[in-house]
Amino acid sequence: RAKSAGGNRFEYADDEADARAITRHGLTTALPAALERGEFFIEYQPLVRLGDGSVHGAEALVRWCHPQHGVLGPDRFIPLAENTGLIVPLGRWVLQESVRQARFWQDEAPGGGKATRPLRINVNLSPTQLHHPGLVAETVDVLERSGLEPGALCLEVTESALIGADDDLLKPLRQLAEMGVDIALDDFGTGYSNLANLRRLPVSVLKLDRSFTQGMQQHPVDPVDIKIVEGIVQLAHSLELAVTVEGVETSAQAEQLRQLGCDTAQGWYYARPGAPDRIHSLVLADAI
Ligand code: C2E
Ligand code: MG
Ligand code: MG
Ligand code: MG
Repeated sequence: RAKSAGGNRFEYADDEADARAITRHGLTTALPAALERGEFFIEYQPLVRLGDGSVHGAEALVRWCHPQHGVLGPDRFIPLAENTGLIVPLGRWVLQESVRQARFWQDEAPGGGKATRPLRINVNLSPTQLHHPGLVAETVDVLERSGLEPGALCLEVTESALIGADDDLLKPLRQLAEMGVDIALDDFGTGYSNLANLRRLPVSVLKLDRSFTQGMQQHPVDPVDIKIVEGIVQLAHSLELAVTVEGVETSAQAEQLRQLGCDTAQGWYYARPGAPDRIHSLVLADAI
């Protein structure tokens, strides 16, 4: 059923060669002007229901179209934006833009936005954004201005950002969750969080890290890896959390993870991150 969609591919700057030319310092100092000049753009990667292959939503992934160095992936500049605090206005822009986009998809969907299963949008939040006092008010504002229902937004926070989180840090997430916004624990399984700790967190989705998906690629799959994923899915479901898997690259992985009870999946097998109109056509097609 699924084909890895080509779509609009960008030439990514080669890490090795550019490491010399692009210094951290150079990129860091260029960040604020880049935001003002509109050099950032967002690619969207579909999230697919493993049961029937229908599109559940999309994750917004930011890129920087650098005038000299070409397109830079988030791993190159998000840490720098984190260090300087520029992540707050940059993250606000990503939220605004992707929520607006999601609302647009919904309006264009069959049934004039009254689609029975509204398309959802996932947006990554970095630790600094979590600590920023304006987070809740700004999110409410963005949702109200776009008209997107809070239940269509999912904020992804990494497991490591929440390890040892105290109540002050969890409070804004709780408020957002009470409004109906989904909170996903991203890259789950890479940190050292106590599973019992999950009960304390206002999360409704576990995003299993790509390392688990890679385990499903072995021939034969290690039975211990299967048991681990099985256990996590059972625990998640018993806590009423949905399970998403990232990094699905083959049909064998997708089938294995579907059998293990995972709910949704994301990865190159379905589609690489791409321009917003491609998500739109995937939604119209109803299944990948
Ligand atoms: P993430 O949230 O875990 O996003 C998933 C990453 O896996 C993305 O990398 C995506 O392109 C990649 N990916 C998706 N499917 C596959 C696959 O089948 N195989 C492989 N090998 N990789 C796959 P990307 O776009 O480079 O983003 C890296 C990280 O940057 C993200 O990890 C996220 O933590 C962060 N990031 C991206 N956009 C934003 C943003 O707007 N704000 C913040 N704070 N962080 C962001
Ligand atoms: Mg993510
Ligand atoms: Mg992730
Ligand atoms: Mg990841």
